Amino acid sequence: LSERLSGIFDGLKRRGALKESDVSDALREVRIALLEADVALPVVKDFVNRVKDKAIGQSVLKSVTPGQQVIKIVHDELVAMLGAEASGINLLGVPPVVILMVGLQGSGKTTTTAKLAKRLTEKEGKKVMMASLDVRRPAAQEQLKVLGEQIGVKTLPIVAGQMPVDITRRAMDAARLQGFDVLMLDTAGRLHVDAELMAEVKAVRDASQPLETLLVADSLTGQDAVNVAKAFDGEVGITGVALTRMDGDGRGGAALSMRAVTGKPIKLAGFGEKMDALEDFHPERVASRILGMGDVVSLVEKAAATIEKEDAEKMAKKMAKGEFDLDDMRTQLRQMSKLGGVQSILGMLPGMGKIKQAMAGASIDDKVFRRQEAIINSMTPTERKKPQVLNASRKKRIAAGAGVEVSEVNKLLKAHMQMAKMMKQMSKMGKSGRMPMMPG
Ligand code: GDP
Ligand code: MG
Repeated sequence: LSERLSGIFDGLKRRGALKESDVSDALREVRIALLEADVALPVVKDFVNRVKDKAIGQSVLKSVTPGQQVIKIVHDELVAMLGAEASGINLLGVPPVVILMVGLQGSGKTTTTAKLAKRLTEKEGKKVMMASLDVRRPAAQEQLKVLGEQIGVKTLPIVAGQMPVDITRRAMDAARLQGFDVLMLDTAGRLHVDAELMAEVKAVRDASQPLETLLVADSLTGQDAVNVAKAFDGEVGITGVALTRMDGDGRGGAALSMRAVTGKPIKLAGFGEKMDALEDFHPERVASRILGMGDVVSLVEKAAATIEKEDAEKMAKKMAKGEFDLDDMRTQLRQMSKLGGVQSILGMLPGMGKIKQAMAGASIDDKVFRRQEAIINSMTPTERKKPQVLNASRKKRIAAGAGVEVSEVNKLLKAHMQMAKMMKQMSKMGKSGRMPMMPG
């Protein structure tokens, strides 16, 4: 028994800080993973240096290796870089709001235009009109019309011989007169970025004042896509990126590079040719794909959940001194409700079944934990530190704040007292190295 206990405390002590050598070793692997995922070299260099600075000195969680810990830091940093916060399509403007789709030929503009139109229609209940400004490729305008019929979204009637800016003006008028919420403009591409293409797109932009200018880019083209993004953002100014063919891209490095180079969010991801193969961009998934070490990441996440380092260390110190206030109890409640009550640091100690029972009464379930937490949340910091100040009127206030009866508050305080007592006994045992009261 005492072996188990001391093992846990040893573990707490052993969890040190990440050393430069730990970080360098792990980052060597990360570097290779990033390059294999087709992330641009300057982006890789910059990224690795940043993570290195950040990681050295961070503490290592118990039950993971320093290398695994570094991978987790890398993963989180990747997610942050890819855009941790989801950025949807901006439709906040005077209707008809214009969404301008730009990009190279064959990148998936027309398909993505229709996919997004379908989604805005079906999921957001918007009245959407689409117009093709592609006068270069024969039948390009018909292509959009056919897709529109397929998904039940209106397209601007085709008039032969008009230039893109003329079509734009006609589309704006039609959308305004017919009360459309959104007008989606599908432009022509070129095989490469050139001056003519940029001039055309800029003219359309000026004529339509789009709220969103989405660059449609083929994720399979990797570095080229990054250069295209840079060019379009520099010349036209984009508000976001739609990455297509993510169904065929096992790596996702283009996403990271694009984001790093343009600073513009990746808003959409195309996963196939079908009209509903369009998703929000999920940084988490792409980060795991780029790293190819998703198992390590989930391992560290589990470890982090099991022992939230600071909480655990604070707890260990307090336990050693025989202290346990209501703040500590709340920490425990949170861990237990998160982990189903088994894997928290206390749960690993022998004899803890009793404490859990004391905390929750007969039934140990999440609802009880949450109610108890609500009661503690209704206390002032002083009350949490020194529960002995709780008189009848304070208890009444707390009960009202938590939406429970005063008897519940009393029950919680009793549970806390029992726990504090046990903590004290354990700290004494810790000093003598014996555990008199714990059954084997
Ligand atoms: P545009 O020239 O930029 O308008 O490109 P299109 O929309 O015409 O798309 C070119 C081809 O790519 C078509 O055959 C589409 O079906 C296909 N495509 C577009 N998006 C995706 C995608 O996300 N995944 C896959 N697999 N194919 C796509
Ligand atoms: Mg097209």
